[in-house]
Amino acid sequence: VLDPRSRPTPVVPQTEPLPLVHSGSIVDNFRAALDGIDIEECEAHGENAFFVCDLAEVYRQHMRWMRELGARVQPFFAVKSNPDPYVLQLMASLGLGFDCASQPEISAVLALPHKPDPSRIIYANPCKAASFVRNAAKNGVDYMTFDNGDELAKIKKYHPSAKMVLRILTDDSSSLCRLGLKFGAPLSEVRGLLKKAAELDINVVGVSFHCGSGCKDPALFGDAIRRARWAFDVGAEEGFKFDLLDIGGGFEDENFELISAVLREAIAEHFPLEGGVRIIAEPGRYYVSRAFQLATNIIARRAAREGINDETSMMEGLDMDDDDEHKPTAMYYINDGVYGAFNCTLFDHQVVHPVVMTLSDVFQDSQQEFGNLEECSVWGPTCDSIDVVQQAAKLPVDVLSVGDWLRWENMGAYTICAASQFNGFRKSLVRYTIDAEPEVEARIRALLA
Ligand code: PLP
Repeated sequence: VLDPRSRPTPVVPQTEPLPLVHSGSIVDNFRAALDGIDIEECEAHGENAFFVCDLAEVYRQHMRWMRELGARVQPFFAVKSNPDPYVLQLMASLGLGFDCASQPEISAVLALPHKPDPSRIIYANPCKAASFVRNAAKNGVDYMTFDNGDELAKIKKYHPSAKMVLRILTDDSSSLCRLGLKFGAPLSEVRGLLKKAAELDINVVGVSFHCGSGCKDPALFGDAIRRARWAFDVGAEEGFKFDLLDIGGGFEDENFELISAVLREAIAEHFPLEGGVRIIAEPGRYYVSRAFQLATNIIARRAAREGINDETSMMEGLDMDDDDEHKPTAMYYINDGVYGAFNCTLFDHQVVHPVVMTLSDVFQDSQQEFGNLEECSVWGPTCDSIDVVQQAAKLPVDVLSVGDWLRWENMGAYTICAASQFNGFRKSLVRYTIDAEPEVEARIRALLA
């Protein structure tokens, strides 16, 4: 049995054998792992927070993708969202391509067992370091994006045979993370950039866009396809023969079917099959978010502090504007926080909710209403006050105490990969499972072999 404390979370494939993959549900795996942790006796780090990843969830998301979009759109997994070695290995075996943002991500993909062909990688960062471009050229990674003239000059110098994809700006106003603030050529610049590419004799093969990470409005995908069609037509006028459309990431679990319906219709209208354009996408969070859950231990607890104004109210002449109503009743301190896996609450604007997993150390795992739920704040383990995971979580204060465990769902995207070790706290490790019917489990194990 994997001891989740024994190994750092690998962010790139490793040469040593990967850890055991268990069976059963995520919750069963939490229970099994917690059975092996004795808070009274364990060594330092023994009660650390840890993830359980259900690889079958990644597999199911892929089947769902193939059902909805597979006929026309080939997924290139956005490695940045979670470069877990098992996840990458499973995806490589399932035939996905990879969207890489940097040379280390490219190396991670090319180091996978049964090394994927470099043509299955798109280096989808419009602003790249010169050394990374040279490295991509050396490794045969030809597909890469650009959105500015300086990048074209760099490509001419370091990778003249690259197959460039022009990233255009589209409406990303309904997304969690607005990538258009940083990347994407406005349509007014498209013709000029293509003229410059022609002058430099650079091979531009297509167009890409990104509707923003965590896109809430499916209609924006339809609008983006229309803009891409316009850019294709400009490309033809400037003498290029584009044959690749990259529709980016932004897909969310909850609205995936709605986005897919919009895409199928827009693609059929603007990029019909007969046109011969190959279409790829760069989904990240869609594939991994639900597959990972995190268990955290309550390492400390205190009664909520009186409001600042309560103290000042005792001093003459100071404002006494009390706000008793929204004061949390207790402050819980857990052993992962915003400098670790919960960086997703800051960088990715995620909102997370705890599920009580043990009460007085007895396994409960329940989302049921425990009689007396109170609004509490939940804090990470560091000494920084920005390290607050949830300002107002509803928890059963009367019965939940130090030593108990909380579970956090949907923790697979933009969590582990951006965690730091600030204050000396280690990154949370991963225990793997496959929760599926026996035939599906056997198939996933074969894909991982
Ligand atoms: N592609 C690019 C270029 C990105 O920058 C990102 C996210 O930042 C993605 C794909 C993945 O987006 P998502 O996880 O929302 O699917």
